Amino acid sequence: MAVTRTFSIIKPDATRRNLTGAVTKMLEEAGLRVVASKRIRMTKEQAEGFYGVHRERPFFNDLVTFMMSGPVVVQVLEGEDAVKRNRDVMGATNPANAEPGTIRKELAESIEANSVHGSDSDENAATEIAFFFKPEEIVG
Ligand code: AMP
Repeated sequence: MAVTRTFSIIKPDATRRNLTGAVTKMLEEAGLRVVASKRIRMTKEQAEGFYGVHRERPFFNDLVTFMMSGPVVVQVLEGEDAVKRNRDVMGATNPANAEPGTIRKELAESIEANSVHGSDSDENAATEIAFFFKPEEIVG
């Protein structure tokens, strides 16, 4: 299976509870390697741009406010079939529906404050990585 990359965000509910290491450990134990990482405070422009696909959804404004409510850690993850591997370890969007052992089941607070984001396709991973990282910031 091919080694690919995906994009991850450790969200404000997780950084607020000092879970950056706990989340990263679960990602690493799932076979993913952190090849880029930075802790940032998202601007309104970044949050709105990143979630632009959800602009018409009823939860859009709350989601943007939440993503700006504290620091986030944006990461590039590398591994075999990285997009699927990451989505499997994240678990379902709503932690109430997530499988035991997944990040969201073990750590998330709610469907909005669900601790992590992960790209849903290789195409979106490439777009999302480029949104936050310059090529030279990614060291595999
Ligand atoms: P996604 O693009 O699938 O990562 O979804 C974006 C994020 O929006 C999710 O990870 C949640 O934080 C949030 N979200 C998705 N659906 C809902 C919902 N029904 N209510 C509130 N927040 C949601």
